[in-house]
Amino acid sequence: MVRLLGASTAGRPVPWLRTLLLGGAFHDTTEDGLLASRFPYTDVWRLYGTPTAWVIGQRGPQCLADVYHPLSHQHVEVADGRLLVTTLTTSRFPPLIRYDTQERGEFTHCACGRPGPAVRVLGARPPFFRLHGHTVSARELVDLATAHEEVDGAQVAVGPDQRVQLRVRLAPGAADDHHSHAWIRFRVLESHLALAACAREQPDAFEVISVDELSGPSALVFEEF
Ligand SMILES: [Zn+2]
Repeated sequence: MVRLLGASTAGRPVPWLRTLLLGGAFHDTTEDGLLASRFPYTDVWRLYGTPTAWVIGQRGPQCLADVYHPLSHQHVEVADGRLLVTTLTTSRFPPLIRYDTQERGEFTHCACGRPGPAVRVLGARPPFFRLHGHTVSARELVDLATAHEEVDGAQVAVGPDQRVQLRVRLAPGAADDHHSHAWIRFRVLESHLALAACAREQPDAFEVISVDELSGPSALVFEEF
């Protein structure tokens, strides 16, 4: 997908691309709107799901952006904006009962005219965020960082291009150098399987930096950096 987008950015059209079949967000995270603008003549079929709930819904070329139709064995509820999923058959794995996907969503109408419910997925619910398909808790990362005595406070900043900074305020007397940042990064990743897998594939996606002050009390901030 990155190579295809690169080709279209370079001004080379891809008229031979008739159909795109994409897995869930853990497969490809390119936004629907970007796909529509770069490949206007391509039919896009896509799944929606999370690594823990597996596939929840799907969308076709006529569907509105970010709108998905739940699979017949997945019962989706929206409770206070939270997307909950219940598996309706024991033959599917994993069996879920009102599983909280940590994502926000709303019921809506879809342009495709398909019968049954349609859900617009609005993204991860803070303090959770999406990183290359994985749903990660900023609160958990902050807790992992501050478990070390060198760290006084911490905050997660999510920037464009799905890059993540774990910003730490170091304790008085703690060494502020590349080695201590790398050590904190190593210890956090050691305790977080999903993030560690992501950082292995894309080492630049997650970095630890030290700051004098955090941007407010929130565990998660969205900023340009
Ligand atoms: Zn639709």
